Amino acid sequence: MSSIQKFFMRILPRAWAEDMQAQSQRWILRCTCGHERSIWEAGGIRWKARGNPRRWITCPPVRQKNLALAPLQGMTPPPASPFAFNPDQPIHTLGHFLGTPLAVQGWSWLPLSEIITWAFFILRSAQKRPRWHWHQHLLLGGARMAVSLGAEWCHNLAHVTAAHLVGKPVDALRILFGMPVLLYDEPEHPSITPRQHLIRSLGGPACNAVLLLVSKVFQHLTPPASPAREVADTAAGMNTFIAAAGLIPISAFDGGPILKWSLVGRGHSPAQAGQIVARASQLVGAGLLGSAAVALHKRRWPLAGIIAFLGMITLTAPKMEHDACRRKQVFART
Ligand SMILES: [Zn+2]
Repeated sequence: MSSIQKFFMRILPRAWAEDMQAQSQRWILRCTCGHERSIWEAGGIRWKARGNPRRWITCPPVRQKNLALAPLQGMTPPPASPFAFNPDQPIHTLGHFLGTPLAVQGWSWLPLSEIITWAFFILRSAQKRPRWHWHQHLLLGGARMAVSLGAEWCHNLAHVTAAHLVGKPVDALRILFGMPVLLYDEPEHPSITPRQHLIRSLGGPACNAVLLLVSKVFQHLTPPASPAREVADTAAGMNTFIAAAGLIPISAFDGGPILKWSLVGRGHSPAQAGQIVARASQLVGAGLLGSAAVALHKRRWPLAGIIAFLGMITLTAPKMEHDACRRKQVFART
């Protein structure tokens, strides 16, 4: 502890002093050389502060090379995820999947995603087959809803399974508007090896690849233009979409951790790997916007909309390095 830290720890009430220490430990100083440490570790204090200022502090590895003051950048912890539980309200555990609690809070679990998707497919069915009876529309709409949202459910349960198998389980599976959200207390806990990170992240996309193969088989087995073929097409489309979107290199999707931890496995530091992922996501984001423009030019409006949306998410996503911040309930989609 530095003398200034000791001084404030002595004069402040204990609860304040502990809060001051905890907050200072959350601010990470990152040198251009990639070395990271908290303000507290560096002997400083940053309490009840906002913003993202740059500070000039000596960086130990750089000083060894006899370079004076290296520029270090203060980093704000990522904002609390909108998908995380509200800590002030009760959380209800419905059951467990491979030891991971399946939890809900308030009315936020209501299956709105299922209702909206079902209604959408019922409308499509009614437009396409005006002579059908209403219960046939309900049935076909329900089947297409089940295979499309089921692809996302299976993806997340596969992540939970992979995390369980490597011994670094997901901390909670939250049901939000009828869909699963994976919550990790510390997604980047130092005890997790690059290999464990990779297996955890690859579980989801691998599951969609298998489901895609199964739906391809069903596409071949069903007669063209039949309702069964329509269900198989929906399943194939959705699994392709989730697997492909999952490869986008940002932290909220699987592609970010997959790229980052394969780089770390090959000898890069987590900070360097984070920077490479950030650069890759800028490239991919620009490429997606370019593809959206091409789709727009060819008047393929829905496709252009989806690609442009993914491109915007990719370009505006928080950088991977933020994962290094010790923060509870960091959201991982995916
Ligand atoms: Zn995923």
